[in-house]
Amino acid sequence: MRSRRALIVGGSMSGLFCALFLRRHGWEVALYERSPLALTGRGAGIMTHPELHQAMAAVGLATDKSFGVPIAERVALDRAGRVVARRCHPQIATSWNRLFEMLGAHVGSGPYHLGKDLVHVSQGDSEVVAHFTDGTAQAGDVLIGADGLRSSVRGQFLAEVRPRYAGYVAWRGLLAERDAAAVLGPELFGQLSFFLPPGEQFLGYPVAGPGNDLRPEHRSWNIVWYRPADEAGELPRLLTDARGRTHELSIPPPLTAPGVVAEMQAAAERLLPDPFRAAIALMAQPFLQPIYDLESPAIAFGRVALAGDAAFVVRPHVGAGVLKAAHDAAALAECLDADATVEAGLGLYEARRAPIGRQFVARARRLGCYLTYRFDSEEARASAAFHAAPERVLAETAVVDFL
Ligand SMILES: Cc1cc2nc3c(=O)[nH]c(=O)nc-3n(C[C@H](O)[C@H](O)[C@H](O)COP(=O)(O)OP(=O)(O)OC[C@H]3O[C@@H](n4cnc5c(N)ncnc54)[C@H](O)[C@@H]3O)c2cc1C
Repeated sequence: MRSRRALIVGGSMSGLFCALFLRRHGWEVALYERSPLALTGRGAGIMTHPELHQAMAAVGLATDKSFGVPIAERVALDRAGRVVARRCHPQIATSWNRLFEMLGAHVGSGPYHLGKDLVHVSQGDSEVVAHFTDGTAQAGDVLIGADGLRSSVRGQFLAEVRPRYAGYVAWRGLLAERDAAAVLGPELFGQLSFFLPPGEQFLGYPVAGPGNDLRPEHRSWNIVWYRPADEAGELPRLLTDARGRTHELSIPPPLTAPGVVAEMQAAAERLLPDPFRAAIALMAQPFLQPIYDLESPAIAFGRVALAGDAAFVVRPHVGAGVLKAAHDAAALAECLDADATVEAGLGLYEARRAPIGRQFVARARRLGCYLTYRFDSEEARASAAFHAAPERVLAETAVVDFL
C-alpha cells in the first residue's frame, strides 16, 4: 500500500504540530512555508498550560526545566505601584522561539520547504494539489491550511471571511533581565504582573533570554500593553510607516514610524506606575500588533482542512493559541484514522473542532471586552466593568478552565 501523503501549508506552530501528529499516525508529511528565511518569533513570549505539555508529550517531546521560566504568582498594581490583587497560579512562560526550535527540530529539515508560497488548491476524487507562486505543484491525499490569520487556503474557500479588528492594539517587546530587575526588583520580575488603567491593560512576565537562555540574569522580561485605537482614524495612522505608506492589517516591526513609538513612550510616562514606566523607557525594539479575531463558518472542504489560526483566531487574553493549534492537529490525525475516506475524516474533524474554536473566540472576546474606545450597549459596559476588576483579570487571563 502506498503511504498517505499530507501537504501542510504554513510552517509555524500549527503546521509543525500537524506534521508531528500526522506522522505519528503513519502519514508522510511535507510542509510548505511562504517565508524564504527560517521563521523567528521576534521575541514574543508564550504562556503555556498543562494541556500543551501533554500535547507535546504525545508527539514525543518532553518539556523539562529547559522549556521556560516557572512563574508562581500573579499580581496587579495600582497607579502608585502598590499591589492591589494577588493570586497563586503556577505556570511556565516560554518563548515563541523556544517552542518553534523544539517542534522544528523534531520535524526535521527534510519535509520542511521554505520559500513555497501557495496560490491555489485544486482537488479531485483521488488527490489534492497545491500550486505555488514559483509555478511548481505538489499532490497529496489531504491538504492542511495551517497558514495563519491571513490564510490563503481559507481565502480560496471562504473569500468573505475577514479578520475582525478588536478595537485595540498590543505594544510588545522585551527587556534584558539585568535592566528589568533594576527597575522592577527581583520579586516583580518573577511574577505575571498587571496594571489596569481604564480601557487598557499592561502585563509583563519573565521569559528565556537570547539563545533561550534560562539562567538567572540572562533571561528577559516580556511586555504586552493593550491600548484602544479606533479603526477609522487611529489604526491606519499607527500602521503608516515613515515613508507614508499605510499597511493593511499589521506593520512589519522595523517599519513602525519613530513618531508612533515616541507617542507610546510618552503615554507610558503619563499613565503607568513607576516600575512599568521605566521598563517601557528601556525596551529596545517595541513592536505593534493590532488585535484581531476570526471565526470560520466551515473548516473542512473535501480533502482540505483549516487548522490553528487559519481556522479560528483568538484574542490573546486566553493565551492558548498554540494549545488550540496542537489540539487541532491531534484531532485531525485521529479523525483521519477514524474514517475510511479523507473527506469523511475531515467532516468528523470539523464537527469536533469547530465548536471548540468558537468557544475560544467567545471566551477571549469576553476577557477583552473592556479594552475598547466605545461601548455599544449598557450591557456591554456592565460586562466590561465586571471583567476589568483586578481579581477577575488575575483569575481569567491565560487560563483554560473552559475546555
Ligand atoms: C499579542 C499576542 C500574544 C499571544 N500570546 C500567546 C500565548 O501566551 N500563548 C499562546 O498559546 N498563544 C499566544 N498567542 C497566539 C499564538 O501566537 C498563535 O495562535 C499561534 O502562533 C498561531 O500559529 P499558526 O501556526 O496557526 O499561525 P501563524 O503563526 O500565523 O503561522 C502561519 C504560517 O503560515 C505561513 N503562510 C501564510 N500564507 C502562506 C502561503 N500562502 N503559503 C505558505 N505559507 C504561508 C506564514 O508565513 C506563517 O509562517 C498570542 C498572540 C498574540 C498576537
